[in-house]
This record gives sequence, C-alpha cells and structure tokens, in this order.
Amino acid sequence: MINADYRVATSAGEAVALKRRHPDAAFIGGGTNLVDLMKADVARPRLLIDVTRLPLQNVVALRDGGLRIGALARNSDMANDPLVRSQYPLLSQALLAGASPQLRNMATAGGNLLQRTRCYYFYDTGFAECNKRTPGSGCAAREGHNRIHAILGASPQCVATHPSDMAVALAALRATVRVLGPDGERQIALADFYRLPGDAPQRDTQLAPDELIVAIDLPPPRFARGAHYLKVRDRASYAFALVSVAAALDVADDGIVRDAALALGGVAHKPWRVPAAEQALIGRRLDAAGIEKAGDILLAGNAPLAHNGFKVELARRSIERALLTAVAQGGRT
Ligand SMILES: Cc1cc2nc3c(=O)[nH]c(=O)nc-3n(C[C@H](O)[C@H](O)[C@H](O)COP(=O)(O)OP(=O)(O)OC[C@H]3O[C@@H](n4cnc5c(N)ncnc54)[C@H](O)[C@@H]3O)c2cc1C
Ligand code: SF4
Repeated sequence: MINADYRVATSAGEAVALKRRHPDAAFIGGGTNLVDLMKADVARPRLLIDVTRLPLQNVVALRDGGLRIGALARNSDMANDPLVRSQYPLLSQALLAGASPQLRNMATAGGNLLQRTRCYYFYDTGFAECNKRTPGSGCAAREGHNRIHAILGASPQCVATHPSDMAVALAALRATVRVLGPDGERQIALADFYRLPGDAPQRDTQLAPDELIVAIDLPPPRFARGAHYLKVRDRASYAFALVSVAAALDVADDGIVRDAALALGGVAHKPWRVPAAEQALIGRRLDAAGIEKAGDILLAGNAPLAHNGFKVELARRSIERALLTAVAQGGRT
C-alpha cells in the first residue's frame, strides 16, 4: 500500500516552502510518471504536494518575441496552442509524438521535463543492481539487456537514456527553464539543465530538491517553417524513442542554410545537442557532405553496448531524413 499525505499548494511559494520542510515530499503534476513509480515502489514520497492548481497553466507571448510556457500547461494544450503550432512547430510535433492523447491531456510541462528514465531495471525492483534507484548497487543494464540504452555520454555507473520527446525539441530551440527555490527564481539553459550520469546517476538534473519548475521560456522564433521531429520507435504509437531527431533549418532563397537547430533523443542521459554540428550546416547548401559532417560531430565518441550498436547507424540515417524533411517543410530546396 502507498501511504502518503496529500496537500494542494495554493501558491508557488507555499509549494517550495512545503518541500523545504518535508525533504521526503514530492511535487505532483499530472502524476503519469510519479504514480507509476510509486506503484512500482521506486518512488516513496511521504507527502504529495499537488501543484496543478497553481496559476502556471498558460502559454504567453513575451515582449522580446519569445514565449513563456507555464510549468502546469498540459502537454496537449501546449502542442495545440496556436502560437506554439505556428511559431515553434518543432515543439508541437515533438509533444504529439509522445505518449497517447489521454496521457498528454494529463501530463504537465514541468512533469514532462522531470520524467525518469525508462530503463527496465530502474522500474523493476526485482533487480537489486541499479545505481539510479539505489546508489552504489551497480548497473544491471551494462551487462544485461541494453537495446534501448545510451550510446553517448554514459558512465560505468549508468547507461540510461532520458525519455522525453519534448525536451529534445526544447534543447534544439535553446529553451531555458525557470525555477523557484527558497532564495527566489533562477533560469537554467536547457543545455545545462540535465546531467550526464557520471558517478551520481541518481541525479537527473541540476535542480535542487526544493526547487519548483515554474515555466519554460523560448527565445524569439527562428524556425517557424522548416522544422521536423523524427521519432523512430518499435511501435507507431505509445512507445519511447529508440532514436529521435529534432531538426530545423532556415534556408535563404538561394538555398544557403542561414540557421540550423539539431538535437538527438534516445541516445544519452540528456537531449544531445552539439552546437558545432549546427555550425557545420550553416553557410552552405544542405548536401550529403554537410549532413554527414553534422552526423559525425553529433555522434563523435559514441560507445555502443552489446545490444544497441544499431543506434549509431539509425541515428545517422535519422539525422539525414530529419534534415531533408525539415527543408521540404520549409518550402525551399
Ligand atoms: C504508457 C506511457 C507512455 C509514454 N510515452 C511517452 C513518450 O513516447 N514520450 C514522452 O516524452 N513521454 C512519454 N511518457 C511519459 C509522459 O510524457 C510523462 O509521464 C509525463 O510527461 C509526466 O508529466 P506529469 O505532469 O504527469 O508528471 P508527474 O508524474 O506528476 O511528475 C514527474 C516528476 O516531475 C516532478 N514534478 C512535476 N511537476 C513539477 C514541477 N513543476 N517542478 C518540479 N518538479 C515537478 C514530480 O515530483 C516527479 O518527480 C509516457 C508515459 C506513459 C505512462
Ligand atoms: S542504466 Fe542506470 S537506470 Fe538502468 S540499471 Fe543501470 S544504473 Fe539503473
């Protein structure tokens, strides 16, 4: 039986103060990941702080031309928001590629960012070895069934991948995460928000335990056209990415790429973006050599495990397809 108290937070400040007073508490958004983890006995919060009534549900235009997405905006509302659809189609596509309509109706922006890995061994307490669940216990996936695991940035302690589709698009779009803690608000670039596992894989992000995500900010749109989120998975729906690519291009009338955004999902403990790969595409026509170079840069240092070597070639081909589709979406070739 799950035995936890439940409080509804009436302000963001109250939510943070409650969390500070109760280190064994957890914020709960849509609950679509946290409740599953509680049922599996992986998460054991003693207090659930329901943040869904906080006035953080809207998507609003910013003065600088960017967009602020409240942390409690539901994934389906974000995906269908007129500004997101017209100005940030990459984000809308990534959201719609995730989960199912029912789950997207429940899931919140903040909860989506903080969903935990889908490594089977993390969810199955029948396996004692999982450094992410029980620090110091080992990693069952490293020598086990590791088809879905990381090919980049892993450590001997953990080879898990981050599962969020939304986060991959946000990384490509250079989003920032706004968080509220006991000392006030701060912003963290999405590129710095997630951690590589290193020797502390129990920590997915740079967030302090008593910090609440309040919003996601997007810079002014640069890729209102010419964006494509490609997700390759075992089933056409209701499945996590084996590899995904968030690709967006701004191509001038003469065919020269003026700007590029590129990030991979399903390959590492965080969305995988290497700015040099985008630079390799800029200032030239999109051709096979440029695409290959971008792929080489993104995949440099890859270290597949026994069962996931296929992801390297899959990522290369997916990068090519996503970029070519992005150009076609932009109406220019
Ligand atoms: C069957 C299934 C299939 C799925 N398929 C996909 C998929 O293909 N792609 C994909 O991207 N996702 C997929 N998901 C995951 C889904 O997107 C997440 O479960 C969801 O986005 C989590 O959001 P939530 O609001 O329900 O989070 P919750 O479960 O409420 O919370 C998740 C975590 O975030 C913390 N949290 C929540 N809100 C805040 C906040 N504002 N500040 C700080 N901490 C917070 C919680 O404490 C918890 O640790 C799938 C889920 C299921 C069950
Ligand atoms: S890959 Fe990470 S989450 Fe999976 S078993 Fe190893 S330590 Fe646990």
